[in-house]
Amino acid sequence: MRSFYSLNYSELKELLQVEGLNISGANLLFNWHYKKKNFDVCRKDLSKTTQVFLEENFQFDLPKIDTVHMADDKTVKFLFELKDGRKVESVLIPFHNKYSICLSSQVGCAMNCSFCFTGTQGLKRNLETEEVVGQFLGAWKWLRENRPGEERILNIVFMGQGEPLHNFDTVKKACEIFQAQEGTSIGTQKITISTSGYLPGLKRWKDEIPGVNLALSLHSPFEEKRNELIPINKRFPLDEVLKYIDDIPLKKKQFVTYEYLLIDQFNDSEEDAHITGKLLAGKRAYINLIPFNPFPGSEYKRPSQSRVEAFKEVLDTYKIPTLIRTTKGDDVLAACGQLNTAD
Ligand code: SAH
Ligand code: SF4
Repeated sequence: MRSFYSLNYSELKELLQVEGLNISGANLLFNWHYKKKNFDVCRKDLSKTTQVFLEENFQFDLPKIDTVHMADDKTVKFLFELKDGRKVESVLIPFHNKYSICLSSQVGCAMNCSFCFTGTQGLKRNLETEEVVGQFLGAWKWLRENRPGEERILNIVFMGQGEPLHNFDTVKKACEIFQAQEGTSIGTQKITISTSGYLPGLKRWKDEIPGVNLALSLHSPFEEKRNELIPINKRFPLDEVLKYIDDIPLKKKQFVTYEYLLIDQFNDSEEDAHITGKLLAGKRAYINLIPFNPFPGSEYKRPSQSRVEAFKEVLDTYKIPTLIRTTKGDDVLAACGQLNTAD
């Protein structure tokens, strides 16, 4: 049986129409499942024939919560078990009693970045739309049951396991479901997709997911260093990636986020900072500095706080807004980029 969470609003409407059912059911159903967040079949106001059709053709299961880790700062890491037994992680990150959710788009990742725990497990498979939507709904349901009154997830970031643009169709459809006015109605600008620079996806961005926030994992302004960190840079060089990004129209007050992973004695010198500043000066850019999070077996080291601050000070001279990302949920290995589910 098909999952209800695999359909966007227009697909659901079309399906009802093809079946000769009342298309107003689409509105009722998005309201019931996504706005009111009920997880059983809708009986209210739906015609009997539509109810029977739904019962016979759809299931409403969410990915099973395998384990939940709670950090002192209220960060929650979920390990979800999927239908085939594979596992993915999602992280709820608190902001004043509201949450952002960090979603996974694949089991593992094919990009094989040298600093990434997820990358070390290779790509196992793409997630399905219902598995992406299911992470959001599953986390929401957990909040309602465990932190009642706090079930507000207002931002979505694709920064968990996987390269979201390498599973473009699924991520796109999940975004459409999150954005649907009839349902969760999450504003386009509340969704951010982080990419290592997967060019085939960037080329589709402006036509297919316009308005969604873009974060590029930059990590170095030098092609050679970037080749070492992010192997697909050899196929899709930074120079070309930036050209496509510059071509994506931004709304008022919208920025592109450039994530810069700081690795001790590798890409954290003042020269690296100056060249990065020159590269991004004049762009609608926002920089996130991420001190490297070590994981078992990693060869890189995290720079000292003073080196991180010195790097930021150089960038400040280029007048680019720069934030040092403090790692939330460190104590349960929940920080983005530390997700690995190879058991
Ligand atoms: N695949 C996408 C999104 C997932 S990774 C991408 O690469 O952008 C999310 C972020 O975590 C990326 O900026 C990634 O570079 C960063 N990251 C990966 N491993 C990390 C580590 N060990 N320490 C800190 N950040 C890491
Ligand atoms: Fe994949 Fe992103 Fe990790 Fe690179 S950093 S291996 S693209 S998840």
